[in-house]
Amino acid sequence: MKNIVNFRERLYTEVLPFISHPTRYIGSELNAVSKDHEKTDIKVLLAFPETYEVGMSYLGFKILYGIINAREDALAERVFAPWPDMEAKLKEKGLPLYSLETFTPASKFDILAFTLQYEMTYTNILQILELSGIPLLAKERGTEYPLVIGGGPSAYNPEPVADFFDLFLAGEGEEAVNDILDTIKAGKTAGYKKKELLSEVAKIKGVYVPAFYKPQYNEDLTLEKLERINPGAPKIIKKRIVKDLDKAYQPVAPVVPYMDIIQNRISLEIMRGCTRGCRFCVSGITTRPQRERSITGLLNAYAESYKNTGFDEISLSSLSSTDYSGIRELLRTLNKNFDGESVSVSLPSSRIDAFSVELAAGLNSVRKSTLTFAPEAGTQRLRDVINKCVTEEDLLTACTSGVSSGMNNIKLYFMLGLPTETDADVIAIGELCRKVNSACKTVSRNFKGLTVSVSFFIPKPHTPFMWEAQDTTAELKRKVDLLRKNVNPRWLKWHSLELSALEGVFSRGDRRLAPVIKIAYEKGARFDSWHELFKPLAWSEAFMTAGVDPEFYSSRKRKTDELLPWEHIASGVSKEFLLEEYKKALQGVTTGNCRTEGCITCGLGEECSKEQKHEEVSVSGGVSTGRFKKFAVAKYSVTYEKTETIKFVSHLEILNAVLRILVRSRLPLAQTEGFNPHPKVAFSPALPVGVSSICEVFEFELTKNIPEVEALELLKAKLPPGLVIKSLVKADLGLSKLYNKAVYEIQMKGVTEVQRNLLPETVEKLDIENGTIALTVNLKAKGTTSVFKLLQQITGLDAEVVKGAIVKRKALI
Ligand code: SF4
Repeated sequence: MKNIVNFRERLYTEVLPFISHPTRYIGSELNAVSKDHEKTDIKVLLAFPETYEVGMSYLGFKILYGIINAREDALAERVFAPWPDMEAKLKEKGLPLYSLETFTPASKFDILAFTLQYEMTYTNILQILELSGIPLLAKERGTEYPLVIGGGPSAYNPEPVADFFDLFLAGEGEEAVNDILDTIKAGKTAGYKKKELLSEVAKIKGVYVPAFYKPQYNEDLTLEKLERINPGAPKIIKKRIVKDLDKAYQPVAPVVPYMDIIQNRISLEIMRGCTRGCRFCVSGITTRPQRERSITGLLNAYAESYKNTGFDEISLSSLSSTDYSGIRELLRTLNKNFDGESVSVSLPSSRIDAFSVELAAGLNSVRKSTLTFAPEAGTQRLRDVINKCVTEEDLLTACTSGVSSGMNNIKLYFMLGLPTETDADVIAIGELCRKVNSACKTVSRNFKGLTVSVSFFIPKPHTPFMWEAQDTTAELKRKVDLLRKNVNPRWLKWHSLELSALEGVFSRGDRRLAPVIKIAYEKGARFDSWHELFKPLAWSEAFMTAGVDPEFYSSRKRKTDELLPWEHIASGVSKEFLLEEYKKALQGVTTGNCRTEGCITCGLGEECSKEQKHEEVSVSGGVSTGRFKKFAVAKYSVTYEKTETIKFVSHLEILNAVLRILVRSRLPLAQTEGFNPHPKVAFSPALPVGVSSICEVFEFELTKNIPEVEALELLKAKLPPGLVIKSLVKADLGLSKLYNKAVYEIQMKGVTEVQRNLLPETVEKLDIENGTIALTVNLKAKGTTSVFKLLQQITGLDAEVVKGAIVKRKALI
């Protein structure tokens, strides 16, 4: 415990003041779970090899966190890839990477479980391992290290990173995670060594232990066989499927971040799987069969999540949300139950049809001014090849009806380099965009214009196009030039060509790519999908040093009888089906949606229930209505403490946290008028990042007179750790209290004297005693009121040095 306190102290004084976005690394969020390591049998560190704001947006990550922490014998904590400035600081100070909940070094966990969301996060996996002091290669890790596990979409072809992992899970984790934890716990109790433990875990359905399989290659470099060297390990690893999605765990009390993350809202997974059969889409294959959650279950989950988080935005997520059979009923009931709650709903991934547009237009969503569609190809011929069963007429009707109902922007997604693509197909993208643009302009003068987002086709494993060659970068460049001549350049947005080429290599790669990843990492590759950090040179040198030709993996067409590196991982969809789809694609023949047009025997067989019914809706957990949009009758002033723990949380982040506290409190909040109404809340003067305070104030107005004691209790019911409400009093309606002065207490090692000559006008009082500076700032005077800038002037020290000071706001006068 003492070690953790010291560690945290060092982080707070030597590391976090000097890096960007320190909120990423402090934890202390609402609903985060901290358990006692000493009293818990199995300790899991869930690792997301991306930034906090990316990783915290993934539903699967939240699901595992909830399931593991619900067990009495286990705990789950979180770690994310640190941004290079944090990495450098940790290295400089000799500090290890740690968990956000208890600041425990990553190497002290039993399991380090990575989410493999995307191939271009592979170097970040190595970064997390290295900063944790864990050897990169599985074979170099003994029983004393955590077991390194991978799961998520990229685990369907884990071979490029197989050397770094002890095991992978193919498929859905809700049930499998408990099987894995039970087995590891039993193995630990029995005192198993790593190899024995892995042999036991390998018996669990869905688990792949790469060390038990050895690849052999033909002279032409293709895979000859994957030899099983442990007879107990399965020949084929079958993916895990949760049969009854409605009974599967839903995270109704997810961690609520202080910082703004990519998906800062409640995400309700309404359905899993998609049977539309787009031939380029790996998720459409690997997430089969399609399963829906019940409307009742979803509404109850939403009501719970709303109370537990205070998020007033909800995303109904799935691969194709408007395909959810109860979508109308769900939206109608959501609107009815949350009427007056200022809740906005978003529906990602719209289908291209009038029905979806009608739904999107009817949503109470803040983002509804843009309509997004993905026709993917410019001609009907090519859309038939990829089985994107949508016509030009569908697209024009959907776009014009969207624009007529108030959507001002249209965003269209296209792919270049699709199989069988010709120059005529590329040129047709331009023609289609122009048609959409002029049709939208005809129906509305308010139409602002098109965005045309272009990405590059990457053949993915487990899809009908897995045998196809990816276009070379040179060929794609030529097509890009051709498209540029045919589309208004102001509309165009491009994905990175170099990144797509690299993604293509790792998507269908094998174990010979592990050295490439390791060398690229050593040469500085990190956060490869971040434009500003991508280092193509590190990668080209890595391929060269490792003696690997990237084009062997990307732009080589595979024979259909070639053994592919992922064939031992079964998605449930048969090779025969994929082959049949591939042949149909080349002939331009489409395949219908098996859900609406009958089963086409994709191979799932018994695993697919093929039918989905919806019960009558009866919701118990709805929330009260009519809290908002009424005149204020009472105003309250709250004094709170921003403790040291959360001193790196910015003013804006605190502001949002307070708004969520108010929503969670269920108090009848008065709202502002206007297009985007929000609760009437006012705050005391902004506190800089890195400063704690015992005297912060916020005020809010209510539409009902609630006694002070009652209001205080409701506010205190669910606070994020680190934010302490000290008092609440009624205030007069009208102008907020204005503050004239702020008093700070500052501790800075080594500072015993200050410069009293040329003190800025804003410094009203300055004392120094026993290394503590007491500073009173006049907030109304001319000049800077920033405490760190003043500190610089007072001490004559560098801006970087004063950042390390411990500053507390003691009073607002
Ligand atoms: S088994 Fe039939 S209904 Fe089920 S996903 Fe496959 S093709 Fe569709």
